[in-house]
Amino acid sequence: MAAQETVDHKYVYDFSEGNKELKDLLGGKGANLAEMTNLGLPVPPGFTITTEACQAYLATGQQPDGLAGQIEAHLESLERAMGKRLGDPQDPLLVSVRSGAKFSMPGMMETVLNVGLNDQSVVGLSAQAGGNDRFAWDSYRRLIQMFGKTVCEVPGEEFEHALDEAKSAKGTHNDLDLDADDLRGLVDAYKKIFSKHTGREFPQQPREQLDLAIRAVFESWNAERAVLYRRQERIPADLGTAVNVVTMVFGNLGPDSGTGVAFTRDPASGAQGIYGDYLANAQGEDVVAGIRNTVPLQELEQLDKTSYDQLLGIMARLEEHYKDLCDIEFTIERGKLWMLQTRVGKRTAAAAFVIAGQLVDEGLIDLDEALHRVNGAQLAQLMFPRFQLDHEFQPVAKGIGASPGAASGTVVFTSARAVEMAAEGKSVILVRRETNPDDLNGMIAAQGILTSRGGKTSHAAVVARGMGKTCVSGADEIEVNVPAKRFTVAGQTVNEGDVVSIDGTTGKVYLGEVPVMPSEVVQYFEGSLDPEHIDNALVRAVHRIMTHADGMRRLAVRTNADTGADAARARRFGAEGIGLCRTEHMFLGDRRELVERLILARAPGEREAALEALLPLQRADFEEIFREMDGLPVTVRLIDPPLHEFLPPLEQLAVNVAVAQERGEDVAKEEALLAAVRRMHEENPMLGLRGVRLGLVIPGLFAMQVRAIAEAAVACARGGGVARPEIMVPLVGAVQELETVRAEAEKIIAEVVGDSGVEVLIGTMIEVPRAALTAGQIAEAAEFFSFGTNDLTQMGWGFSRDDVEGAFFWRYLELGIFGISPFESIDRDGVGRLVRIAAEEGRAARPGLKLGVCGEHGGDPDSVHFFHEVGLDYVSCSPFRVPVARLEAGRAVVETGGSDSR
Ligand code: PEP
Ligand code: MG
Repeated sequence: MAAQETVDHKYVYDFSEGNKELKDLLGGKGANLAEMTNLGLPVPPGFTITTEACQAYLATGQQPDGLAGQIEAHLESLERAMGKRLGDPQDPLLVSVRSGAKFSMPGMMETVLNVGLNDQSVVGLSAQAGGNDRFAWDSYRRLIQMFGKTVCEVPGEEFEHALDEAKSAKGTHNDLDLDADDLRGLVDAYKKIFSKHTGREFPQQPREQLDLAIRAVFESWNAERAVLYRRQERIPADLGTAVNVVTMVFGNLGPDSGTGVAFTRDPASGAQGIYGDYLANAQGEDVVAGIRNTVPLQELEQLDKTSYDQLLGIMARLEEHYKDLCDIEFTIERGKLWMLQTRVGKRTAAAAFVIAGQLVDEGLIDLDEALHRVNGAQLAQLMFPRFQLDHEFQPVAKGIGASPGAASGTVVFTSARAVEMAAEGKSVILVRRETNPDDLNGMIAAQGILTSRGGKTSHAAVVARGMGKTCVSGADEIEVNVPAKRFTVAGQTVNEGDVVSIDGTTGKVYLGEVPVMPSEVVQYFEGSLDPEHIDNALVRAVHRIMTHADGMRRLAVRTNADTGADAARARRFGAEGIGLCRTEHMFLGDRRELVERLILARAPGEREAALEALLPLQRADFEEIFREMDGLPVTVRLIDPPLHEFLPPLEQLAVNVAVAQERGEDVAKEEALLAAVRRMHEENPMLGLRGVRLGLVIPGLFAMQVRAIAEAAVACARGGGVARPEIMVPLVGAVQELETVRAEAEKIIAEVVGDSGVEVLIGTMIEVPRAALTAGQIAEAAEFFSFGTNDLTQMGWGFSRDDVEGAFFWRYLELGIFGISPFESIDRDGVGRLVRIAAEEGRAARPGLKLGVCGEHGGDPDSVHFFHEVGLDYVSCSPFRVPVARLEAGRAVVETGGSDSR
């Protein structure tokens, strides 16, 4: 039975058998080649070996049973269709062997071209190409080079070096000046390099070449750079890559051939039009590597109008079919156009919004789909500041705005140095002539990337856009000298360690640090840009999509704010109330002294006096916030942290006292303070005397705060405003704690509020696991719950929130124990389960119980979706995250079809 299953398992799909939905199995490239084949577009025939075959190979180190036979059968049918045999000496079929995972991993894995060439078939290829010996030998040397490097790990520089020698022997810098004899000589040199490193001759059997290349592509899934890229992009490690075996077509057969890459819209700004690069008489890898300078795609119209028109027609068709921005790779072989790849193209955050808006206008997608196509991380990126430029700052160079943003930093020239300096906390700009996959570490570490070569489709541009990192590419006025660690531009020299600023939107490069200003999107949220009356495609698209998100979302969005200024800003950003006003911040600065008196109080009346002095100050704090949030709910949390946080650190105080004593000074006051600090010292303060425990232990403290809140609300109401205070008790673990605080608070509220019409709710944070597990009981004494997921994560996992992220999370991430810190994005299975239980049991006990979250997770996109699903009423987050949460709350509805567990 098992044997039967293995034999039947299908590992190889002809392009005519797949479609774009099969990305898991055929990888992105294979699925889209199949889709284009089925659309009747000119795709060179070929087949795809599935990701399952790769997974099986990586698990066992062996090709799975049946794979070899299936490859054979598909190769035979390819040979029949083409009327040629792989590597035939007279008229060889040649194939490329290309990786293609589910998620695009640009340049991370391997490709081998021209498989099927050997000492005989190179002659056949030349005849096939009309006696073009030069082309045939150039193709053969490329095979040995790629095969040697990729399949047999021969150091690539050795081939480069031999090529350079051949060129200098010829007195040229240009590959194209090497003639057939030179290239024949180069093939000999390459073969020697190959056998020196591998101890064997370059394989002459075409089928052996094919099998070894397929294995090498499988194995490249686990290459170091691919692993690093996956970790960075959060691509699961077990997907594996598919392998595409595609009939070779040649862009290097002469001036009527060439190769290019294109986007159906500008991937940086989203503007409509045709964006691409074309390189005549070249193969695809020449474009991506930026080895020769490309021309804009529009120039193809002059070179080959028929192919140009056909290409434009295909691009329009692809956009309509995919209903999205597509990027493509194509080759023209002697006037015949071939499509080598398409996919829904990566784009910048700005382009994502602009394109989604345009596609709605064009009737290709609806607003729900537009909302689905953007995300909170992109919106957050659009809220980053931009350079504030005045005449003082003149650009020294202008390249291509390859990935937007404004970045300033210290110049470094190598990936290793970028990593080192970033580890020292420096912001760095990685400057290279062009980047390649080995630069990935440095690109991750850098704030921005600047290259002197390459276009919008160069490695640097594609990878930076994927990471959301600022990049200027192709700034060709810059002369980069990596060994000397400097670049020169406009007669000036910039050394490693100097500071430059790069603008990834305009492509401009500045010397020194340029100051920054708020982004247009922030200005729009602030209300200072009117989307209806400005000519700014991005702001209009953001406005339209945000409006739709607001119309769709069920979750309200509040903010965490404890000053009037923050509250006002958050309200402009769309906050519908305050979900967490942390009152401890109001006890700092010049009020510290009062707090010290409160803590140190010994004599009768001392504590009361301190509280009495604090009361009007607190009342003023709350009045300001209620005024800013007029008409909206404001959750004020009673004081939470351990009180000793308001006192000087023990060690420092002890030293001061000892020194003063030594000098014979009067230290009575300091000694009292030291004694108090000693008395209050805790080994685990986060699990000690804090939150509700303080309220129960220090008489009058919570009462003072409750009175200040109620009085401020009444003052607001008397002034014609509407204050809607919600008093929140922190760190509750048992209903009895809450009941005790509540009883006292209710008395004060009744006394203060009188007939003012002010209504004050009393509720609790759910941030201790026991509270979540006894939520049914706690709900009896609470009108609302607000999940404090910071502490709930701390206590749920037993992770000190102040220490563990720096201490060992890197190892947990490496081991895959979690994919992201649970302090950043909610741990759905564990901490999330506590939230779910508390929500369900709380609501069961008190229907209408208001539920919100005010931990950091309230502004995290993925967590917002979770809180929608469990049926909370609102999320609360820092002011700058409010728009992100609004967007994601709308997206959560669109993505779940509106369902949640309420
Ligand atoms: C929490 O614990 O999630 C919370 C919001 O409170 P704090 O971060 O102030 O402890
Ligand atoms: Mg907390």
